[in-house]
This record gives sequence, C-alpha cells and structure tokens, in this order.
Amino acid sequence: MKKVVKFGGSSLADAGQFKKVGEIIRADASRVYVVPSAPGKRFDGDTKVTDLLYSLYHQAAAGEDFSGVMGTIRRRYEEIIEGLELTDFTLEPQFREIEQHMKEDPQPDYAASRGEFLNAHIMARYLGYTFVDAAEVIFFDDDGNLEARKTKKAMAARLADIPRAVVPGFYGMGHDGRIRTFSRGGSDITGSIVAGAVRADVYENWTDVSGFMVADPRIINNPVNIETITYRELRELSYMGASVLHEDAIFPVRGEGIPINIRNTNRPEDDGTWIVESTCQKSGYVITGIAGKKGFCTVLIYKALMNSEVGFGRRVLQAFEDNGISFEHMPSGIDTMTVVVHEDEFIHKEQKVVSAIHRYVQPDVVEIESDLALIAVVGRGMKSMRGTAGRIFSALAHAKVNVRMIDQGSSELNIIIGVANEDFETAIRAIYDIFVVTQL
Ligand code: ASP
Repeated sequence: MKKVVKFGGSSLADAGQFKKVGEIIRADASRVYVVPSAPGKRFDGDTKVTDLLYSLYHQAAAGEDFSGVMGTIRRRYEEIIEGLELTDFTLEPQFREIEQHMKEDPQPDYAASRGEFLNAHIMARYLGYTFVDAAEVIFFDDDGNLEARKTKKAMAARLADIPRAVVPGFYGMGHDGRIRTFSRGGSDITGSIVAGAVRADVYENWTDVSGFMVADPRIINNPVNIETITYRELRELSYMGASVLHEDAIFPVRGEGIPINIRNTNRPEDDGTWIVESTCQKSGYVITGIAGKKGFCTVLIYKALMNSEVGFGRRVLQAFEDNGISFEHMPSGIDTMTVVVHEDEFIHKEQKVVSAIHRYVQPDVVEIESDLALIAVVGRGMKSMRGTAGRIFSALAHAKVNVRMIDQGSSELNIIIGVANEDFETAIRAIYDIFVVTQL
C-alpha cells in the first residue's frame, strides 16, 4: 500500500499544525510521499505566506526595499522551526539565495514558489524524508501549461529509488530554466501528479474541511457531507463553484484510476469525501450535490423556420467565437435558440455579437436578458430514479421561484436550472430541503 498525502496551507500554518500533520503521517506507514503547500493563515485576518511572497516580488520589481516583508516571511518559518524543536536546522542559506535572486532577477513565479520550497525543506527534515525539488521533476511549456507526459516520466524515475520523499507543491520548471507555478491552489495538482507517477493506491488531500458538502455552507447552514463522488460529478460541481480541490487536480490520477480522499487535518477521525472513477455506492439523497453561480446572460435568437436551415447553429456560435466569448449552455426550440454566456465577459461585446448574429443568420428577433443564475443539481443516481426533475420543480414552485431555463444533458448526470439572480439562494435552499432535509 502506497499513499501520497498533500497538506494545504492551513494544515501547515504554524508549528502546532505541523505537529498534527506529523502525527497523521506517522500513524500510517503507507503515507510515503508528502506534498506540502506554503504556510497559510493562522487566524482570520492573517496573511498567507504565498501572498507575502507576491508582495515581496512587487517591491523587488519596483526596486523598493523589501527587507520588511522578507523579515516577516523569515519569522514565519523560524517560528515553525523553533516550535518543532529542530535545533540544528536552519534555512539561512535558502533565504540568502532568495534575497540574491530577488535583487538580481525578480520573477513572480519564482517568488511565489519559495513558500512551498521552504516548507518542504522543513517537512523533509521533520519527518526524516528525502527532499525532492519539484523544479527537477515537473515541467511546463512556454505557455505555462503542464507537460504532463514528460513530468510523469521524470517524477516516476526520480521517486523509483526514494522510498519516502517530500515534494513541494505548486511549482515546476519552464523551458527557459525559470520556475513556473500552477494557478493558485496548485499544490493539489502536484499531489495528483506524484500519485499518478508512483501509481499510489490513494491520493489523500488534507485540508481544513471534512470533504465536499452537498451544498455551499454559506447558503445552507451545516450541510451534510458527500461521502463518495465520481470524477465526473466533481467536474460539474467544481465548474459551478464548489471549491475544495483545484479543478485540474483530478486529471493526473483519473487516468490511473486512483481515488482521491479529501480529509480534515483538524479532524483526522472523519472519513472525508472519496472521489472515485465509478462506484456502486449510492448517495442517500438521490442527488450528490448542488452548486451554482450568478451573473449569466441569455441571448435568444428567433427566426421562423430556423430548424430547416442547415448550419444555422454553427453560424450563430461563430458570432460568439469571433468575439472570443465562450458559451455555457444552449437550450433550443423549433424556431429559437438560446445561448447562455457569462455576463461580465459578454457585456462589453454585446452589440458586436448582436450585429454579427444579424450578419450571419438574419434573425427575426434577438433578445438579451441578464441577471440569470445557474444552478447545477448533480447526481449519478438521477438517471435511475423516477421523479427527480419533478421534485426539483415542485420544490421551486413551492418556494415561489420562477424557472427561466432548464437544461438536462442526455448523460443525465445533472440538471441545470436558470433562475433570477435574486432567487438563487432561495432556489438552492428549496432543492436542498426536498432532497436532503426531508430524508434526515
Ligand atoms: N500556496 C499556493 C497558494 O496559496 C498554492 C497552494 O496552496 O496550493 O495558492
């Protein structure tokens, strides 16, 4: 049994948290590869080390004195080292090198990556594991995209002879020999890469919540946890705003069929959420989760007999593509087509898009409506259950929510519902109540 364990910033925010992590790792001998984030917030209003490092970069790039921020960062690490009583250990050489680098050639990705780099050095020492620099095993192309194959090969080869290692999260190396980072929260991806490369049995992702919740806790008070979710369901939910894991973190393990287990460092006794390829375990609530976002617009195109015009849809979408706008959904009728887009992306280009639609398809009417919220009700169990849609819509009707759009793909993994922005929270509560609260 081989496990890869990733710990987020709040799990490593100070020495106390580090000790909890140490206990978790030592409690299970199969936790052999560890991916740490940079120290996160210790309390509300605190600053993450990664954010301090970005400030450091801005000051250095502007030619300002950055010794103040540097001192704050240094103290964060020194406190951890002291709290762990690593008496003969110091990060002084690393700090000197960072200072030098920031004076000579300040780069934002390099600066940000040092949070994980330094934390991984402490972690390796604390656990007695080998430090493996991510810059030697994770590669990016010139556009900043992960070179997945090359990375997997290098990572697998490197770790083959190292039974226990710490690999810092969040960064790797570009073609030009400079450090590159993933987008924020990217240590989740590093963990997944390591797990995929060593063919781990499990990728444990330790954070400060006990997994995914059925609905957003800012809308639903104390929502129930999701025990098991498939990769595909998770994609749907995270696209719609459920954030616990970086969106791209599932790809490296998905291809290997490795499950991800989201766990809580502050409550290690909780089982957390299992993210799996496929499962015969059913959710107790028919649905797996509800998520949503506000701020969409609909563009309705009406033209008599559009259904018999070959290429009509393509030409309409061309008008959006020409203006660099991606669309979210596209429900249609006999003589109508509706294109749902992000309001903030669309608003500045709306007239250009409308005139392009006129040029390409000569519609009878084009109508734009704004302030639409989309809600995704996701669940692998829906396709084998009669009445799911019926329950959703009667719950919404009871809550006096007007449904403005419905979209259900033939995969039947989710039902997308469009409501007015102002009805968003009410709608989510109504759906949660009918599927979860009534079953408790
Ligand atoms: N430390 C980085 C961030 O704050 C990366 C991570 O934590 O995954 O985004």
